[in-house]
Amino acid sequence: MKILVTGGAGFIGSHLCEALLGNNNKVTCLDNLYTGNKENIKNLISNPNFEFIDYDITNPLNLKFDQVYNLACPASPTYYQKDPIKTWETNVIGINNILNIAEKNKAKILQASTSEVYGDPKVSPQNEDYWGNVNPIGIRSCYDEGKRSAEAICMDYSRNRNIDVKIARIFNTYGSKMQRNDGRVISNFLVQSILNQNITIYGDGSQTRSFCYVDDLIQGLMGLMNEDKINPTPLNLGNPNEFTIRELAEHILKITKSRSNISFHDLPLDDPKIRKPDIKSAKQRINWEPRIQLLEGLERTYNYFKHILI
Ligand code: UDP
Repeated sequence: MKILVTGGAGFIGSHLCEALLGNNNKVTCLDNLYTGNKENIKNLISNPNFEFIDYDITNPLNLKFDQVYNLACPASPTYYQKDPIKTWETNVIGINNILNIAEKNKAKILQASTSEVYGDPKVSPQNEDYWGNVNPIGIRSCYDEGKRSAEAICMDYSRNRNIDVKIARIFNTYGSKMQRNDGRVISNFLVQSILNQNITIYGDGSQTRSFCYVDDLIQGLMGLMNEDKINPTPLNLGNPNEFTIRELAEHILKITKSRSNISFHDLPLDDPKIRKPDIKSAKQRINWEPRIQLLEGLERTYNYFKHILI
């Protein structure tokens, strides 16, 4: 099968390209390298079934594929807020360009959506029927509302143009190939612990997140793309085990045996207080649930960062 992965040089994209190549597909990785990094795909470049194209999906595309995974967009608040208008364009104009090529080629699309569509949720756990609690005009809106718009566009193409669309709502994911300066909580805490710098907790650390190891997520993404039935309804992919940020810091300090202290900083605006996926639907639809729990995943990610930092 010929598969396009946009954002394929990013953290999740590069893992996905590798897994798809392992299943004997021909993979084109398209990335503008804004947050993606060629280092992430250096082990794939010599594979004859792999090609890399330096391109921005906000420009029209003219490519032929059987399947497209649309992962292109910075996902860390630090980066998606650096150029919010670009984040908008990537989410909205980008998916429209992808859906246009899908229509021409009768290709199947998987849109990487996000738990951010639930905003600062009023219900827990969040299931796919919950419409969310999103600030439409805040500093996270370029990403949150951008991804919500992208879901709306996907649903309209599915209803009106017969495109086979899949929508994955990806919850916090971590693992090797995260950028050391990505600004996400797990990469920050691991790098800080390894370098014996202060662990920077934003707020009092009582906010929660549920962390999914990247290998589990990749299985979920491929499972959803290859689901037998046509079903564009969004699907949560994440690990339902929920931790406070304070607990996460303590686990990381223990695993890394670090001498770091914890320092407390202002909570960023609109930072969600809780986040926990309901994954009943993923179990029913694609028989998926995560297998790698936090301590094991942190250990593996620690080994990765140790390798690149020391
Ligand atoms: N966070 C933190 N210290 C950091 C980075 C993040 O306390 O150095 C907090 C952040 O405020 C949020 C949580 O960790 O409550 C997860 O942040 P991240 O940026 O990883 O993801 P998101 O907010 O998109 O879930």
